[in-house]
Amino acid sequence: TGLNDRERDLIARRERLLGPAYRLFYTNPLHIVRGEGVWLYDPEGRPYLDAYNNVACVGHSHPHVVAALSRQAAVLNTHTRYLHETILDYAEKLLAKFPKELGNVMFTCTGSEANDLAVRAAKAYTGGTGFIVTELAYHGVTDAVSQLSPSLGPSVPRGDHVRTVPAPDLYRSGGQDVAEVFARNVAAAIEDMRAKGIKPAALLVDTILSSDGVLSDPPGFLAKAVDVIRAAGGVFIADEVQPGFGRTGAQMWGFERHGLLPDMVTVGKPMGNGHPMAAMIAKPDIVQAFGRTSRYFNTFGGNPVSCAVGMAVLEVIEREGLMENARQVGASMRRGLEHLAEKHSIIGDVRGAGLFVGVELVRDRTSREPAAQETARLINDMRERGVLISGAGPHANILKIRPPLVFSEENADLFVATLDDALAAL
Ligand code: PMP
Repeated sequence: TGLNDRERDLIARRERLLGPAYRLFYTNPLHIVRGEGVWLYDPEGRPYLDAYNNVACVGHSHPHVVAALSRQAAVLNTHTRYLHETILDYAEKLLAKFPKELGNVMFTCTGSEANDLAVRAAKAYTGGTGFIVTELAYHGVTDAVSQLSPSLGPSVPRGDHVRTVPAPDLYRSGGQDVAEVFARNVAAAIEDMRAKGIKPAALLVDTILSSDGVLSDPPGFLAKAVDVIRAAGGVFIADEVQPGFGRTGAQMWGFERHGLLPDMVTVGKPMGNGHPMAAMIAKPDIVQAFGRTSRYFNTFGGNPVSCAVGMAVLEVIEREGLMENARQVGASMRRGLEHLAEKHSIIGDVRGAGLFVGVELVRDRTSREPAAQETARLINDMRERGVLISGAGPHANILKIRPPLVFSEENADLFVATLDDALAAL
């Protein structure tokens, strides 16, 4: 392989110290030591165009965010059992980005914890225990939400209270109405639960389904299924960990593309631009029902440093017009990719919204046979050419493209040109 001694040594130390549960990206794992904007740098100073890290939404090491973090860390960091303005100022600023019906926020450190809390609150509010997720969903690492994350594979038990439904996949729908089919599948899952005496609590889905294959279209495809779960006494939890914070371009949250008002929303990853923070946002009735029976204390969730960071991230998104940037640059990137599809027949589908883009690779456009090995080779070749992306979907044949929201037109052109070269070399 193309690894040097230092990289081989790092890999061996990781295996020895961290054990076997971790995975590295790429056949030749990447050693990076610095980030700035859309660029990541290896120890030799070679730049890599980051088209994958949705966490660093305002760009790696953004000075405004770093300054806010340092400033607050130098003054005070403690927890939510003392009075402090920052958590309230940030809560107000964050909630102002949501429909007014979503009036409460509870802070956690990770998306997993936010989903775990949403699960507890959904149970408390509905009195149900049944959950519906998509077949290849990922919602996190705790014992409860790993059971709602079938993408972790068959070794993770799903539990009697969990039902999976096929994700709405327009490209592979065979012309059927994906919204209708998805709603019918949710209804069947509810019937199956009821037959076993399980009361439904919630439907939990990403508003652009990421691990299922970057499934975005047609906008609105979740709405009918949400009606179905509500009619059955359950609630709808929108997992915005990936699409949230302006990534979809025309709106702050993915659920808005579906014309939906969720009962609960979970956010994370980009919220702190890399600083670990996440939250559950919910209708006050639900938070009341949870708080009547449970107390909640998360040692680090909502601490003054995190809230200062979260505030700074929102300020940058606003000041630098990053949602609009995601809309414009995302649209030109998709146009560029569609143009590539005219000469590379392996491109079966280009989809997404804003800077959340999926490119499905197929061996044959008629049979739509997934080009799984080719996709793996392509992702590795892109890394060698200095551009970072990854794959998704049941056959990992969908390029997952989620650059920082500061991605420029020039970055998008470089991305498309590099993909063009890599596809030609395939
Ligand atoms: N939900 C989704 C959709 C995610 O992508 C992730 C992280 N990959 C999570 C939840 C869990 O977030 P975290 O890793 O912060 O626990």
